[in-house]
Amino acid sequence: MNPRSLRFKLSWMHGLVISLVILFIGFVRYNTVSYRSSRSFDDSLLNDAQFLASHFRLRADGSWVLEASSPGDKLSLEELRSNLIVTDSAGNVIRPDLHDHYMQGFISSGGLRGTLKQGSGFGLTLAAGGDTYRFVNLIAPDSGKEVILHLCRSMESLRGVLNEYFYIYLFSVPVILAISVPVGWYLAGRALKPFEEVATIAEQITSENLNTQITTKRNEQEVRRLVLAFNSMVKRLNESFQQMRKFNADAAHELRTPLSILQGENEIALRSAGLPEEIHSVLASNLEELQRLTRIVNDMLILAEADAGSQVLARKPNNLRPMLEDLVEQMGVLAEDRSIEFDLAEIKDVVIDADPLWLRRAFLNLLDNAIKYSKDSGRIEVRTVLRDGWVDISIRDEGIGIAPHDLPHIFDRLYRADPARSRSSGGVGLGLALVKWIIEAHRGHIRVKSIVDRGTTFKISLPTLNPPAKEDLNDPALT
Ligand code: ADP
Repeated sequence: MNPRSLRFKLSWMHGLVISLVILFIGFVRYNTVSYRSSRSFDDSLLNDAQFLASHFRLRADGSWVLEASSPGDKLSLEELRSNLIVTDSAGNVIRPDLHDHYMQGFISSGGLRGTLKQGSGFGLTLAAGGDTYRFVNLIAPDSGKEVILHLCRSMESLRGVLNEYFYIYLFSVPVILAISVPVGWYLAGRALKPFEEVATIAEQITSENLNTQITTKRNEQEVRRLVLAFNSMVKRLNESFQQMRKFNADAAHELRTPLSILQGENEIALRSAGLPEEIHSVLASNLEELQRLTRIVNDMLILAEADAGSQVLARKPNNLRPMLEDLVEQMGVLAEDRSIEFDLAEIKDVVIDADPLWLRRAFLNLLDNAIKYSKDSGRIEVRTVLRDGWVDISIRDEGIGIAPHDLPHIFDRLYRADPARSRSSGGVGLGLALVKWIIEAHRGHIRVKSIVDRGTTFKISLPTLNPPAKEDLNDPALT
């Protein structure tokens, strides 16, 4: 769960919005219920008080009685009487001996004072135990406003119901969150899945597979729009790439003929007798530059044709060991000039399906670089390691190394980590791009590790053919 992901935010927002809506509904509902319950509580209290008043009789000696006209009324009056207090208009209780024990305690606690002085209407008071009581005060009929009936009722049951209601809503929030967040997570995941699919395919698109088009079974308008926009963008990119590649190939092709004519004419001019010394050296330098230019143009043409898919590999089984040994011997002369030593200790017999010309070219470029960027009297190690259907060939030098910021780019075309040094050694930055293409065309891959001033290791992995027969390894045709 990434807190910065859209899925995470959507699921939490989903949970929060649902919880807020529930809370708001709860708040409105609680207030409505609370208002209605209080109203009906008061109505019922007033009804009961009026019922008592209609049966209330005040005697001449100041005492009072509740006269029932039927047995049913008697029962009700008995029940209500226990909550009734009768006072004079100054709030003094008339016949306190008639109250039950509880009411007596309530009256003597003093909390009722204000309420008992109230002539009529509703009142509220707090009992000693903390319970809240609602009072309704009525003037006793025929008493000349001198006698007041006070009927009280505990509000605790009403409070209890409202509190229960309140806590149910309050505790429902975490429960709703606990349910709605995972549900939101699932729904957001489903809604975002097509976008993830598009992103996964988009990540796999490189300049080599720009003709990829995304297909989707989803019908949602947003997804369709994204896929269409993405496909048409890739199509436009592909067309631009094709045009660029065609231009590269055409330009390289067109340059080849005038370059070879210029090179030939230079060589003839150089052979002319009696050439002044300055002219000779200008021509010789021109020839060198022309040869360099020809190399660049040839490499560009190869890469352009490789991009266009018109370079075809002529593969056949090849034993890697004789090929590498031969190449190292070939490069030995160059290495000897700078006292660089080759170490070929662990080269194994292994047969791979390869175009020997192209593969030789790749290894030659790597060995050439290893010598070019080695220090004098250095050492270059070539090794092979076999593992599960693959062979890893590593070429390790102890040269100048490559800076970490250059490493990701050295396989790019025309990229030179140190242009001055690379140019002085005849490099143009196309060699490794070519090597990469050759290795990948053989279904392999190439990696590089380097430490500045300590050296560089190129590791090429190529698929091997099934374990070769012993005769195959000794077959001269495989070298
Ligand atoms: P170049 O023809 O200029 O050598 P490459 O494509 O062969 O071009 O190499 C690209 C860059 O990678 C070079 O300019 C060089 O800076 C760096 N490089 C390649 N091989 C090595 C190596 N063995 N040691 C140090 N740097 C290297």
